Amino acid sequence: MKPLVVIGGGPAGYVAAITAARQGKQVTLIEQKDLGGTCLNEGCMPTKSLLASAEAYEKIKQAEQFGITLPLEQVKINWDGVQHHKTTIVKKLVQGIGYLMKKNKIKVMKGEASFLTNHRLAVQNENQVEEVEAEQFIIASGSEPASLPFAPFDGKWIIHSGQAMSLPAIPSSLLIVGGGVIGCEFASIYSQMGAKVTIVEAADQLLPGEDADIAFTLQEELEKKGVAIYTSASLTEMQPEYKTALFKHKEELHELQVDYALISIGRKPRVLGLGLEKIGVHFSKQGIDVNEHMQTNVPNIYACGDVVGGIQLAHVAFHEGTVAALDACGKDKNVNYRAVPRCIYTHPEIASVGMTEKQARQEYGDVRIGEFSFTANGKAMITNEPIGKVKVIVEPQFNEIIGLSIIGSHATELIGQGTVMLHGELTTDVMEDFIAAHPTLSEAIHEALLHSAGQAVHS
Ligand SMILES: Cc1cc2nc3c(=O)[nH]c(=O)nc-3n(C[C@H](O)[C@H](O)[C@H](O)COP(=O)(O)OP(=O)(O)OC[C@H]3O[C@@H](n4cnc5c(N)ncnc54)[C@H](O)[C@@H]3O)c2cc1C
Repeated sequence: MKPLVVIGGGPAGYVAAITAARQGKQVTLIEQKDLGGTCLNEGCMPTKSLLASAEAYEKIKQAEQFGITLPLEQVKINWDGVQHHKTTIVKKLVQGIGYLMKKNKIKVMKGEASFLTNHRLAVQNENQVEEVEAEQFIIASGSEPASLPFAPFDGKWIIHSGQAMSLPAIPSSLLIVGGGVIGCEFASIYSQMGAKVTIVEAADQLLPGEDADIAFTLQEELEKKGVAIYTSASLTEMQPEYKTALFKHKEELHELQVDYALISIGRKPRVLGLGLEKIGVHFSKQGIDVNEHMQTNVPNIYACGDVVGGIQLAHVAFHEGTVAALDACGKDKNVNYRAVPRCIYTHPEIASVGMTEKQARQEYGDVRIGEFSFTANGKAMITNEPIGKVKVIVEPQFNEIIGLSIIGSHATELIGQGTVMLHGELTTDVMEDFIAAHPTLSEAIHEALLHSAGQAVHS
């Protein structure tokens, strides 16, 4: 088969490269930094490692409640150790991608790629430029943090998520601008580690993409950890020389002096510098335009992952990368966005799939809601985490499960059950006879399903 070049070695790119190589293509992958992209180096994995350290610390502080006596005053976080744990995991995972490249006979080139024609790329590595020719291309150049026009990142005081995970020490105070997924995860990490965290969010709730009741439970739990949360608030001025931020909340102007200001207001697709305008690929600030096969308007060029905008998650990038590669290899593949889990690794965790209650009511009107609280779940009590609930959303005509939201311990693992239900278009009639192991957190999902049908046993 004719050669194929992938630009970008993140989740979309490396999966596309492996998939195409397994179809018999001769594949070259071009990456300017480290394999693994944002996900492995500055996103999913390092944040989850920091969260795991914060949660281990939190659990140890609860030792007394489990009947374990410890000199609690001696329990402290060793920040260098936390960073070491994180970098060791990242290094192993990046090496793992390198191994997969070799195993699948994928040539990896280091450098920044940009199109010269729709069959030729220039790859710049330091002062050297090499040209690469291919029949087909898959662009998986990802995204980068968006900055505020009046407060560009300086890496010293105004920082982005990549910088926030490698600070020299735990900050004593941190302002987080943006209460979305990334902002809330960092609020969880640093508040559990003892920092005084303030969140300023423009919308009227944290996590604007999720239901208000779920977001509000998280807000209450973060506030218990001392996080100050201002919703419907807007940042007005940043004064790096005084490490001071000004923001407006309910007509009142607040002034805040903090060690760092983390701007987490979203990520923008990396579309510039690729030479797309030269070869006529349609794109905008929102990303590269693609069809359901991840093909651009230039037929031999595909794009996938964060660079196409849409849902900027690693598992969506994996899926889009697979579809792009298979389609490029002549298999007629479409992307199926029907059941994409959304996971937020805060404490407590939040995970959802399908519609929120608000979206479902807008689309179906009279939906049925089933809920079960973890405060009534034996396993959650045993592990001392009786916080949150499961909420299931059912449409009225066929009793099809169209949404599931979970806030509580291990929500990001439990959501897998909801993903299967939505992917399989299951109904509550089918799920009624489902047997959940006892005692497990999964019982809360079963109870919420029963509740939606008016048959709850334990509530
Ligand atoms: C703090 C944080 C936490 C996150 N947590 C999660 C999570 O828990 N779960 C989840 O699903 N998602 C999470 N995400 C999102 C996830 O990281 C992204 O959705 C995912 O990495 C997108 O994959 P990608 O391959 O499209 O792009 P990227 O991972 O951004 O990879 C793109 C790669 O392309 C390279 N590149 C760009 N331009 C060129 C060029 N011209 N030449 C050569 N190479 C180039 C870049 O160096 C980069 O390595 C998180 C993101 C952040 C920032």
